[in-house]
Amino acid sequence: MIRPDYTLALYESLLDTALEAGYAFATIEDVLTGSEPDGPHVVLRHDVDRRPRNALLLARAEADRGITATYYFRTKTAAPDRLARVESMGHEVGYHYEDFVRAGGDHDRAHALFAENLASFREHATVRTVAGHGNLSRYTNIDLWDRGPSVSEYDLAGDACKSMDLHGTYAYRSDTDRRWGGTGGPETTPELIAELEAGEFDRIAVLAHPSRWTTGALEYVYQLGWDTAATSTKRAVAGTARIGTATAKIREATP
Ligand SMILES: [Zn+2]
Repeated sequence: MIRPDYTLALYESLLDTALEAGYAFATIEDVLTGSEPDGPHVVLRHDVDRRPRNALLLARAEADRGITATYYFRTKTAAPDRLARVESMGHEVGYHYEDFVRAGGDHDRAHALFAENLASFREHATVRTVAGHGNLSRYTNIDLWDRGPSVSEYDLAGDACKSMDLHGTYAYRSDTDRRWGGTGGPETTPELIAELEAGEFDRIAVLAHPSRWTTGALEYVYQLGWDTAATSTKRAVAGTARIGTATAKIREATP
C-alpha cells in the first residue's frame, strides 16, 4: 500500500508547521539583495517545469497564509495571465531559462534568446532573478554566464543557481528524485515537516517542483508512474550521450 506523499494537503501542512514554528519567508530576490529577515526563515523556490496549473494551487495555498515564494517559469509554462496572477498574489516571478541549451552552446545566440525571452516575461511581471533549467543535454544552462553580458547588465539581482550559495548558508531541501534531504536528511514530506517543527535550522531553502504535487491519492499513484518513466528516459538518454561522446573521441583519434 503506497502512502501518498506530495499531496496538496501535505504541502499545506508543511506551510502551517513552518509558520507555527516561527519561520518567516523570503524570496530569492530578498536573499540575493541581502534583504532577507534576520531571524529564522524559509526560502521557497518553485521550478515550474510542467503542469503549470499546479503552480497556481501552491501559489494560492501560500498566499492564503501570507507567505511569499519564488516561481521560476519556463517559456512553455509561462502564459502571460499566469505570470501576472502569481505576481499579484505577492510572489516573486522569475525566468527559468534554457537558452544556452537551445542555442546549442553558442553564447552569442543564447544571450540573444535570453534577452528576448526575458523582455517578454517582463511585459507581464517584474523579473529580478532567474534560474537555469536542467535540460537533457550535453550543455548546462548556467554556462550562459561564462561569456557575454552579466546578470547585472540584464538588471537582475542574480541567478538562483549561480549567485546563491545555498549549500553554504542554508539547509537545502529539494523534492528532486522524490526524497528531500539527500544523505542523512528527511526522505518523506512528513519527515521534512517534523524537521521544521523541531526548528533544527535557522535558514532553510526548499525547492519544490509544482508538477510533483497532486491534489489526491489517485493522482499521486499516476504521478509516481510518470516520474519513474521520466527517470528511466533520463538514464537512457544519458547513456546514449556517453556512448555518443565516446564514439566522437574515437573518431577524432583516428587519423
Ligand atoms: Zn527546471
